[in-house]
Amino acid sequence: MAWQTSTTGGYPWDAAVSRAEHLAAKADATKELLTFYAELLRAQKGIYDFLRGREGWLPSGVLEDDLAVVRRTLPGLLGAVEASGPAALSEEARALSHAGVEEVGRMILEEWRAPTGTRFFAKALLQPYARWLAESGGYPLDRDLERGGNRCPFCGGRAQVSLLRTKEPSADGGGRELLCATCLNTWPFRRVLCANCGEERPALLGYFHTPAYDHIRIEACDTCKHYIKGVDLTRFGLAVPVVDEVAAAPLDVWAHEHAYTKIELNLVGL
Ligand SMILES: [Zn+2]
Ligand SMILES: [Zn+2]
Repeated sequence: MAWQTSTTGGYPWDAAVSRAEHLAAKADATKELLTFYAELLRAQKGIYDFLRGREGWLPSGVLEDDLAVVRRTLPGLLGAVEASGPAALSEEARALSHAGVEEVGRMILEEWRAPTGTRFFAKALLQPYARWLAESGGYPLDRDLERGGNRCPFCGGRAQVSLLRTKEPSADGGGRELLCATCLNTWPFRRVLCANCGEERPALLGYFHTPAYDHIRIEACDTCKHYIKGVDLTRFGLAVPVVDEVAAAPLDVWAHEHAYTKIELNLVGL
């Protein structure tokens, strides 16, 4: 099942789950991480299906007003993390299951309005919410973030991963896009351009690649010392960018050793 993002067909959660399971089965060092991520994606699909299937309800785009519905998806997520997450997250999930309605609401709203990318549970809930908001024709009304070339035009989120895919047969190797860390939409972005600071001088933009991950590379900037991973779908069409990005965790080690900071941590904190 190939990965595609169309706003009419719904987000391909199943393709993401299958890809994570497939990679987990053949992984070594990242097996646990990918097994957990598969469960997490399954829980996110559950959230998405719940929101999407709710009769007579569409997200308003004012998250504060939608919270009562969104909060109802939390127990499923907490259960999945408790059952299959790493110890620290599992502990956090247990604590959160006893937290008050207001505390939970505040956490989700804060991540929506001033995203850090590090509030795991809020980010995990907000991805399917924002995704369904986009697909259902809504707009984030209480998320007043700057837009601009390196920010998601829909929700203002930062780039989680960069990708290359062929759009037209004439495109030479496919156009570059960035994928939003919050709503998972993609938008076109110039090839030789830092997704963090806008550096465009080729001498200051470096790439790191190993044969172990033929279709993935680190795209690093020496001006702002930030990096993002690039997934090349023209080299491997079955890749699912958010999943393959996680599977290539050893590349993050290289980046950190070279003092680069990731533009946005992924859901599993890498
Ligand atoms: Zn977005
Ligand atoms: Zn930069």
